[in-house]
Amino acid sequence: MDMNVSQLLRDPIGSTREFQIDEEIDIAGDGKSHKIQGDCTLLRTNRSILVKCNLKTEVELMCSRCLCKFRHPLKIKFEEEFFPTLDIVSGTPMSSPEDSSAFTIDEQHTLDLTEAVRQYILMNIPMKALCKKDCSGLCPTCGKNLNEGKCSCPEDDTDPRWSKLAKLK
Ligand SMILES: [Zn+2]
Ligand SMILES: [Zn+2]
Repeated sequence: MDMNVSQLLRDPIGSTREFQIDEEIDIAGDGKSHKIQGDCTLLRTNRSILVKCNLKTEVELMCSRCLCKFRHPLKIKFEEEFFPTLDIVSGTPMSSPEDSSAFTIDEQHTLDLTEAVRQYILMNIPMKALCKKDCSGLCPTCGKNLNEGKCSCPEDDTDPRWSKLAKLK
């Protein structure tokens, strides 16, 4: 997700550029690529380039109830500043931003969005996901996925505290 921003860095403060994103990146470092689509606006500020992104992708999650894998659409929105490492006019190195985790634009004036996109996707992945709202989960006794039908375990799961009441009936 490289964008050459040498022209934008030369433009006056307040200049903008729009980019369409349609790329595949490896998010978790597992060799699986994810299609990322959406748009980004780049704004030249007095010290950096402010990137605003509106992206969507799909991730594979594991249902916390039935443990099946399913695809989950994910929308990510973020705003991040990218700091130049070289002065575009003089070519001299710029002092690095105080925050060492800040994103930078390399010496070739390439702004690479990959790492930011990766971080925001990882941040937005839900911790506890369900494959569907009413997922029936697994049978605690035999482990069968109850979304696929009932298991043959006896259905006697009455709480013993109710049994007296049941006898009264
Ligand atoms: Zn499930
Ligand atoms: Zn069962």
